[in-house]
Amino acid sequence: MPERPVYILADDVINKIAAGEVVERPSSVVKELIENSLDAGASRIDVELSDGGRRLIRVADDGAGMSRDNALLAVERHATSKIRAVEDITRIGTLGFRGEALAAISSVCRFRLQTRPASRAEGTEITISGGKLQDVRETGCPPGTSVEVRALFFNVPARRRFLRSVQTELARVKQLFAVYALAHVKVGMSLAADGRTLYALPAGATREERLRDLFRLDPSAELRPVAHACETVKIGGYVGLPADAGPDRSGQMFFINGRPASAPLLHAALREAYRSLAPRERYPAVFLFLETAPEDVDVNVHPTKQEVRFHKPTQVRDAVMEAVRTALAQASDAANPLRSAAQHPILEPPPEKTGAPCRTDRNRQLFPYPAPAAPFIPENSDGALASVPPPRPEEGSALETGAGGHAPWRWRRVLGQAGGKYAILETDDGLAIMDPHAAHERVLYERFMRQIRAGNVQSQGLLAAESVELAPKEAAMVCAALDLLRRMGFGISEFDAETFLVDAVPACLGGAQPKTLLLEIAACLEAAGEKRAAVKMMEEPVARAACKAAVKTGKQLDEQDMEALLQGLEAAEMPYTCPHGRPTLVYFSFRELDKRFGRRP
Ligand code: ADP
Ligand code: MG
Repeated sequence: MPERPVYILADDVINKIAAGEVVERPSSVVKELIENSLDAGASRIDVELSDGGRRLIRVADDGAGMSRDNALLAVERHATSKIRAVEDITRIGTLGFRGEALAAISSVCRFRLQTRPASRAEGTEITISGGKLQDVRETGCPPGTSVEVRALFFNVPARRRFLRSVQTELARVKQLFAVYALAHVKVGMSLAADGRTLYALPAGATREERLRDLFRLDPSAELRPVAHACETVKIGGYVGLPADAGPDRSGQMFFINGRPASAPLLHAALREAYRSLAPRERYPAVFLFLETAPEDVDVNVHPTKQEVRFHKPTQVRDAVMEAVRTALAQASDAANPLRSAAQHPILEPPPEKTGAPCRTDRNRQLFPYPAPAAPFIPENSDGALASVPPPRPEEGSALETGAGGHAPWRWRRVLGQAGGKYAILETDDGLAIMDPHAAHERVLYERFMRQIRAGNVQSQGLLAAESVELAPKEAAMVCAALDLLRRMGFGISEFDAETFLVDAVPACLGGAQPKTLLLEIAACLEAAGEKRAAVKMMEEPVARAACKAAVKTGKQLDEQDMEALLQGLEAAEMPYTCPHGRPTLVYFSFRELDKRFGRRP
């Protein structure tokens, strides 16, 4: 093969190559432009799109603006006002610093920049088409900067073909916009698409207001506040209730030193924290704000800066797990699908009435008001159905708030079992349907875990010692945890590097196969990382044992069984899901029922 000559690439070629990294789709353009506006100290940012961003993306701000000279430099590659020397990268306070966004973007579209510092009377307008400077002129424009990107990828057909439908591209822009709007609540922001305003967010908002405006979430009712700090990292924000988990990660947002960002370890920490609370493929909403020293986090890992690297990953990961766990446990209401306490904090007395109260007063006809003697009163003269108020429980009886203080209701009574499976309960403000198997799993799981935490585990000898051979990686995990395993009721010794002899297992694990147990424990140890607490590594085997030992679905339950189960659930720390995250209770509030029946509550 003949030798090929070597060339230094022309700037516009380099820019187009760089654009491949920085500008993937309309949302990446919006991201870079919003970041520039924020870095310019804007207090208002207005974003406008048409055709999902293919036809037009416009981002206008009221920030510092640029002089003519600076504006001309800004569209050059590696031109930035944000860093000077390599050392600056380790202490980055701005969102941008690579100095490539404007150069990259303007090389793949028809680009127009209008900018004016407040101190100058005239602004500057620069137009570029596919990386070629077309025109520079003075213009009249408001202080700040407005960037227009038209015909994105008109000169890169491969990229253009790669774009998805208008809705998909728009959805990505909305997600991105939301993330930045949440990170910068003081800045007024708007997003409009094809002439329709999607968000109009006032300046000077709080995080709570933004959550409400962006996601229609009521943080006080639907989320738990997070507040946790350790030496390395301070964590604030909100976490969602396991029962409300969504089908993908779009509702899970991390902010690192004010920068929307992520790192695989953060997702791993979340998975760990929600383990046994939310099903595996479900993702609770999470808005976590992490603050670290700037030198403890490396943002220069990825051209779009969306993924960061922590210099103390273990501490960060443990802190996130701790923060989420604490937030969810602080009130077991955390996972409360009933969530009614917030809506009706005080139960008002029923109106004084003679005769049976009518059905519309049902919501208010609550314990502790005396009930009529008759269990059922037929149609009254109004033609409305008479209510059947619950019997008044004895003071301090089990029917009042459960022993653990976490009970999902203030009052309840069992109405019966339906479909040979589900228990139907009436509670103070609705109907609850319980899956006895899932509920029992939760009760047993917590009981076993309590025994393990207290170091109070009975050992059960095997008839014959069993030898268990593991793969090298798993064997190493188990080997490092031998002492711990013995304290937890395992009779286990090393036979050789990869084989163990097991002659006893914890009694609560109910005769599970030693090999299966050790494999699960090894997997837990790996997932739990440095946190090799006994409690962690036992979660999976215990959850499985609880599932095996729990009442089978379809078993007829008598009153006593049901009562024992309910008392167990009322005392549970996290009564709303089984250890694998399936719900134990499904709830219909009277409010909801009234609505369904077209009644005003
Ligand atoms: P970077 O943001 O990494 O510095 P960019 O190519 O995005 O690189 O921008 C280059 C420079 O242009 C910035 O450093 C900044 O000085 C200037 N600039 C860009 N956008 C704006 C804006 N909206 N307002 C004021 N200055 C801007
Ligand atoms: Mg930038």
